[in-house]
Amino acid sequence: MFAQAAELELRSVSKRYAGQREPAIRELSLTVPAGEVCVLVGPSGSGKTTAMRLINRMIPLSGGDVLLGGRSVLEREPRELRREIGYVIQQIGLFPHLTVGENVATVPRLLRWPKARVAARVRELLQLIGLDPDEMAGRYPAQLSGGQRQRVGVARALAADPPLMLMDEPFGAIDPINRAHLQDEFLRLQATVNKTVVFVTHDIDEAIKMGDRIAILREGGVLAQYDTPTNILTHPADDFVAQFVGADRALKRLSLTTLADLQLIAPNGAPPQPAGERTVTRETTVHDALSMLLAAGGKPLAVTNGNGTVEGLVTLGLVEQLLSEDGAAGGSANGTPASPPEADGAIPRRPGASPAEADRARADGAGANPAGATAQDGLAHAPATRDGSPR
Ligand code: ADP
Ligand code: MG
Repeated sequence: MFAQAAELELRSVSKRYAGQREPAIRELSLTVPAGEVCVLVGPSGSGKTTAMRLINRMIPLSGGDVLLGGRSVLEREPRELRREIGYVIQQIGLFPHLTVGENVATVPRLLRWPKARVAARVRELLQLIGLDPDEMAGRYPAQLSGGQRQRVGVARALAADPPLMLMDEPFGAIDPINRAHLQDEFLRLQATVNKTVVFVTHDIDEAIKMGDRIAILREGGVLAQYDTPTNILTHPADDFVAQFVGADRALKRLSLTTLADLQLIAPNGAPPQPAGERTVTRETTVHDALSMLLAAGGKPLAVTNGNGTVEGLVTLGLVEQLLSEDGAAGGSANGTPASPPEADGAIPRRPGASPAEADRARADGAGANPAGATAQDGLAHAPATRDGSPR
């Protein structure tokens, strides 16, 4: 259903608009590997939208080159090129006088797909984005919520299986709750479609959540840093990046890690926990777990599976350990997971001792009762962050 994704390379790309003294983009070079999400983030006016329009030749380059799948876009006929690049923008995306089905069918029709194939594709895509085709295909954009319109915009952009998707602040006009839903949905969708995506936002939190890599632009379209979310948070290249990601970057990093990535303290037969405010699961982010730990005065939390069985305990000490590792476990710039660092927590591991043995030693100290464990007995091993794990 989705077969195509192509590497995108920007090679010393520059843009100076007619009549402007300063360039909007200055010598921008970066490569997005096929199937990865690159988030372009930066303050208003830093050239994000300009970069998108240069990629699909809506505006001409002043210098440099753009290669899609190794081939210069300058060799391509612009209209034909744009059919191979899905484009999603906020608000004005859909044709108001066409139904949802007709909107989604736009590019397949331009490509003269047979009618039956177009109809099947529309159904398939509407189902993929969670809209019932029978109910939704005949509606007009004005008869949809803002979130539904954005979903249809994404379906339309995906219709002809483009190797590249450009998304310019696609969720910018959506309220925070629906925005979080759309972000989650997009990440699930991307796990299926595996497109090369350039996603523009001015919101660093959205960038951290959505990106395999983040390109931070500053005024004048100068690239300040291009790196994984973990590396941007743990090793900002300069003061501009540090300020842009915010003083709470250590806390933001905890949103990239879930409890599944921590080596939990063994429960040693703790009784099953009824689901409630004091229980968390492996899918809970470390950020949310920390918030609950603090709310409970530092008492360890029981991590349960779906049946309420306690799989392990999480403590303030474990979170502290994760923070003190300072990015050592983050993905490296080429996207391969970094090798696990040796645990260097409060309880030294004997040479040759397996993580499981260390775990048992720790659990003995902690006791079987969640409430009996102290906040200091945590010992974490390599946390695999989202951008460090293979997709
Ligand atoms: P962003 O999307 O990051 O907010 P833009 O790419 O829209 O930034 O704009 C980058 C710079 O280029 C800004 O200074 C903007 O004023 C200027 N600019 C954008 N479009 C044009 C245009 N058509 N003509 C002249 N200047 C433009
Ligand atoms: Mg813009």
